[in-house]
Amino acid sequence: MNHRTPAYLDYNATTPVKPAVLDVMVPLLGTVGNASSVHGFGRQARQAIETAREHIARLAGTVPSQVTFTSGATEANNAVLQAFAGQPVLVGATEHPSVLETAPHAQRLPVDENGLIEMTALEAALQGDVKPALLSIMLVNNETGVIQNVAALARRARALHPGIYIHTDAVQAAGRIPLDFPALQVDYMSLSAHKCGGPQGAGALIVAPGAKPAILLHGGGQEKRQRAGTENVAAIAGFGKAAELALAEIAAYGRLEQWRDEIERTIQAIEPRVRLYGSGAPRVANTTNIALPGIAAETQLMTLDLAGIAVSSGSACSSGTVKASHVLQAMGADAQTAGACLRVSLGWGTKWEDCAAFIDAWRAMHDRVRERVVASADRD
Ligand code: PMP
Repeated sequence: MNHRTPAYLDYNATTPVKPAVLDVMVPLLGTVGNASSVHGFGRQARQAIETAREHIARLAGTVPSQVTFTSGATEANNAVLQAFAGQPVLVGATEHPSVLETAPHAQRLPVDENGLIEMTALEAALQGDVKPALLSIMLVNNETGVIQNVAALARRARALHPGIYIHTDAVQAAGRIPLDFPALQVDYMSLSAHKCGGPQGAGALIVAPGAKPAILLHGGGQEKRQRAGTENVAAIAGFGKAAELALAEIAAYGRLEQWRDEIERTIQAIEPRVRLYGSGAPRVANTTNIALPGIAAETQLMTLDLAGIAVSSGSACSSGTVKASHVLQAMGADAQTAGACLRVSLGWGTKWEDCAAFIDAWRAMHDRVRERVVASADRD
């Protein structure tokens, strides 16, 4: 049994809330005030929300009037995809389930073995008789960390079909790479607080002026009638603080790359048969996706968990049941390899000791299963 503090290396699933974010949130949880009320209590709640809106706008490279708060990125993605329900839609094959399952009839754009959307596939889809109303492409993939060239894809899409609307899910990009909403050439951007040091259950949808409204929830007039429902003031304020800190710390985020690369180098030296999905493409600094052929992800996760290492396999959103990853399958992995992947994701609180503990635990696991890895590789 392992007695050291477990190493949390699952930041793409959710990040710990930063202490300064808690300092903002906790007093607000004990404060009364509906942001729609005109009295002083309400005005205070309103003030907390508008301050947060400014910080999120700055993080995304936009202006506060374009930011609508939501319950998270699942809601933001649903709002956009639902606004185009019944119309032809194009999505990347490696999108998050909150996009794919909201647009089950969308045409999926294939990716290459590095996870990048192929420009020729986009061009072919836009040159057909049916003109898509919406293109949805994530900026950073949650399983591999691969960065799509959204601006180039968007520019090409508009050149071929000027009427198209474009959405990007930037959840895994915020705080990791600089965001410039106008430069990305998109109409909509989804963000989530809990991937960048904020609380779970808060997110935002950014909508460019002139874009088709994307309204999922109807009711009261909150959020300028773009999203009904009493605002979660403490969570939104926490999101604002997290955005402020993420932007201030973005230059330092790159330090994680050295540790990520060291993990990859060491593991490849231990077992040359591992595959590092997405490592041939531009990636955010914190993510690695390691396939150990022949060893089911579930087995790997449980072994590492017992050794005090918290990592994921594929998307944590669908975990509990560890399925072969649709992302890796889209990148050409067979079902067996796509079901043998670990996602290790670092973040603001990660120390090198956590990475070293992962390497030690992975090495010990490998020692025990080495025969099976070899057998599986020889079969291929
Ligand atoms: N998109 C991506 C790329 C994600 O990683 C996630 C979270 N797993 C979501 C959307 C959903 O975000 P939320 O948890 O805020 O609903």
